[in-house]
Amino acid sequence: NAAVSDPNDTGVKVIVRMRPLNKKEIAEEATHVISKLSPNSLSLIDQQFTYDAVAGDDESQQAVFDMVGLPMVENCLAGFNSSIFAYGQTGSGKTHTMWGPMPDSGSELMATEERGVTPRVFEQLFSRIQQEERNNVDKQLRYQCRCSFLEIYNEQITDLLEPSQKNLMIREDTKTGVYVEGLSEEYVSNLEDVTRLLIRGLANRRVSSTAMNNESSRSHSVFTFVIESRSKSAAEGASSVRTSRMNLVDLAGSERQKQTGAAGERLKEAGNINKSLSQLGNVINILAEVAQNGKHRHIPYRDSRLTFLLQESLGGNAKLAMICAVSPASSCKTETLSTLRFAQRAKAM
Ligand code: ADP
Ligand code: MG
Repeated sequence: NAAVSDPNDTGVKVIVRMRPLNKKEIAEEATHVISKLSPNSLSLIDQQFTYDAVAGDDESQQAVFDMVGLPMVENCLAGFNSSIFAYGQTGSGKTHTMWGPMPDSGSELMATEERGVTPRVFEQLFSRIQQEERNNVDKQLRYQCRCSFLEIYNEQITDLLEPSQKNLMIREDTKTGVYVEGLSEEYVSNLEDVTRLLIRGLANRRVSSTAMNNESSRSHSVFTFVIESRSKSAAEGASSVRTSRMNLVDLAGSERQKQTGAAGERLKEAGNINKSLSQLGNVINILAEVAQNGKHRHIPYRDSRLTFLLQESLGGNAKLAMICAVSPASSCKTETLSTLRFAQRAKAM
């Protein structure tokens, strides 16, 4: 798929994914308020929306990976910072899309046909890295990869690979750029290495129940895979290093808090959780404005942990895929409309 690798492309790809009605919704005889009209358009009651792609409720994990994962792997190998985000209300299918069904023992996560975008991205990355090394023996092309996995909860960063490391700070260095101080990074050289890290980190992910979905997560998780490639130019014998990163981001639920029956402590958390999410929205709005009128503007990346952390992956030459997950049920209509509008703004970036 050359669409995203095209240099004239804006660098943002927005896809909307619908999940099927769940048992509860079927039991309540919920009606569908959303339907796919074409490969890239849908309707919500009588409103029509167009995106880069629309995945209907019968579309497989493989198909979603082909739409977003494959082009993003190629972007990353071509040297672009690349990110895949899952956005949407709690219960809309973000985690299912990014990871797949969450088994008790994580090794199943990588084996099942239902595995999500993230495991498939790593399969593809390692297979392509091996292929590139084989095809560039003359240049002594070698890749070195490392991973980190963190959670932003209540505007606090926790290292999911080393959960005793809480409330980590983001720093900026003129040489290395933006980084999280004290975050563990582990070298990985194959799929098994990454699988082990994914499983370890996912087990540490914070989950707490809400009235809407008792498995819902109130946190943002960010898995980052850094690729460094070294090669020698045949002519001069000089070696060069290129670094790019792939961020896989499972965002907290986008719903407004009152709908989930949150109160007290939970409500306090909600303000902070939404700070990163609403700041992501703000940054996307401003980037969209800049893309349209070409005027320089200050972009307030530093106003939330999430946008500060991903500063170098949101603007400039970075490549972005936004998967916006929606429920088809009438009971979710308001939140679905809000997600579809967010997706439209992201498209304008
Ligand atoms: P979120 O992470 O957005 O809160 P989940 O990914 O946990 O939502 O999905 C909620 C429920 O719906 C889960 O039981 C999940 O397995 C199911 N689900 C979500 N998307 C799909 C899909 N495309 N096909 C089948 N089941 C899905
Ligand atoms: Mg989730």
